[in-house]
Amino acid sequence: MSEQNSRRDFIKQLSALGILGGVVAAGIGGASYLGADNKLLLRPPAAVDEDDFLALCIKCGQCLQVCPYDSIILADADEGNGVGTPLIDPLRRGCYLCPLLPCVLACPSGALDHHVEDVKKVEMGIAITPRMNACIALENKTVTKDMINRIYDHTITLTVNEAQNYKLEEFPNKSDKRELEEKVLQKLDTFEGKACTLCVDMCPLPNANDAIRMIADEKSGGNKPEILEACVGCGVCVEVCPTSVLAIKPRVKYNEYYEKG
Ligand code: SF4
Ligand code: SF4
Ligand code: SF4
Repeated sequence: MSEQNSRRDFIKQLSALGILGGVVAAGIGGASYLGADNKLLLRPPAAVDEDDFLALCIKCGQCLQVCPYDSIILADADEGNGVGTPLIDPLRRGCYLCPLLPCVLACPSGALDHHVEDVKKVEMGIAITPRMNACIALENKTVTKDMINRIYDHTITLTVNEAQNYKLEEFPNKSDKRELEEKVLQKLDTFEGKACTLCVDMCPLPNANDAIRMIADEKSGGNKPEILEACVGCGVCVEVCPTSVLAIKPRVKYNEYYEKG
C-alpha cells in the first residue's frame, strides 16, 4: 500500500468514527493564543489556524507520543493561555518533517489538519536570521566538536554513557526512534572541522535547496545563509545552528515576512 493510500485509509477511519468534524468556532479572544511574551507559539506541523487550534486541541498528547524525534512538548503556564497544548521549541528540538507526518495522523481532533499529506505544505512558519552577525560562516570558521555535542545534550534516547562521552554505542534491537535520532547525530558528526553549513545541510525538507542556501557575503568575504520561499518553519536550522543566528516566526509565510517586511 502506498504512503498516500495508508494516510487516506487512516483519515477515512477517523471520519467514520466521527472524530474529524468541522472546525469549531469557539468564542476565544483574538490574542488568547499568544505566548507569555506576546509571541505566537510554534505549533506542530499542519496545525489549523490558532483560534481553531485552541478550540479543537483536546490536550491528549497523542502527537507528542508518536513523535520519533521528541520534537513536541506541551505548553506550561509560562506560555500564557493554551496550557497543555502542543508546541515546538526549536532551540530545544526542531521538527524533522517525518514523511508520513505521524503527529498529524495521531491527532484525534483535527487540530492538526489531516488533509495535509505533504511535508512541503505544513506551513508552520518561516525561518528568520535575527542574529546574522553571529554566523561563524561569515568568518569561514569551522564546526567544532562542542558545537555538535550541544545536540547530543538534548537527544533523549541516548544512554548515560553516550550522553557523557558524546559518542554513539552499538547495541542490538534499536527502536525506530533510536535509529532516526542516531542518523541525525551521525550526520552532524560529519561536519566537525568543516566550514559551517549546518543550517543548510540539516534542513529536512525534501526540496531543502528551495528553502535555505549559503550565499557569499560581500562585506565579510565569507558566507551566510539565505532563507527561500519553500521554508516551512520546521525549526531544525534553529536547533543545529551553534550560535543562535536563526529563529522561527510562527504562522508567517515567506512573502509576508521577506517581501512585505
Ligand atoms: S513531523 Fe515527525 S518530527 Fe515533526 S513533529 Fe511530527 S512526528 Fe515529530
Ligand atoms: S530553512 Fe529548512 S530547516 Fe530551516 S525552518 Fe525552513 S524548512 Fe526548516
Ligand atoms: S548554522 Fe548556518 S547560520 Fe549558524 S553559524 Fe552555521 S552557517 Fe551560520
